[in-house]
Amino acid sequence: MNAPLKAVHLEDPIAPHVRAMLKELGEDPGREGLAQTPARYAKALRYLASGYTLDLASVVGDGVFESEGEGGAVVVRDIEFHSLCEHHLLPFYGAVHVGYLPGRRIIGLSKIPRIVELFARRFQVQERLTEQVADALVQVLEPKGVVVIAEARHLCMAMRGVEKQHSSTLTRATRGAHAEILEMMKGR
Ligand SMILES: [Zn+2]
Repeated sequence: MNAPLKAVHLEDPIAPHVRAMLKELGEDPGREGLAQTPARYAKALRYLASGYTLDLASVVGDGVFESEGEGGAVVVRDIEFHSLCEHHLLPFYGAVHVGYLPGRRIIGLSKIPRIVELFARRFQVQERLTEQVADALVQVLEPKGVVVIAEARHLCMAMRGVEKQHSSTLTRATRGAHAEILEMMKGR
């Protein structure tokens, strides 16, 4: 007779490091409130860094179409995002505004926030995130122009006693013809 199968629960390799960190900071990782925290944190972190497990082609899928005639600029404003600063591993978050002037292709509008997530769910600096979204649109659409503007608050500034709690950081990336896109972004 076979021995009954034992349920093997393999711990996430990140979890013991979280336990060690808590201990180093003076906590008791064994106390009730913290017992499941290393596993939870590992799971959360894997989600927040899940951009590494995806690529542009899989995110865009079949969401690119041939453009019908001379299309004007397309702008999607206020795409909420959350990312982790690579210098402090603390969140920065805000909104991205993305616009492009179509060439021969257009993209399904729901794909644009997915492209932002692809790059936001990694360890980032805001400048690179902004450039990567612009480059992704150029790669997928070969448009006449692209503008990406990001506005974000960085918890590494707000929480570390830098005393800039209400500041926000703006970054912009442009490719090709961008005057019409910028004008549309500003309009309300
Ligand atoms: Zn930082």
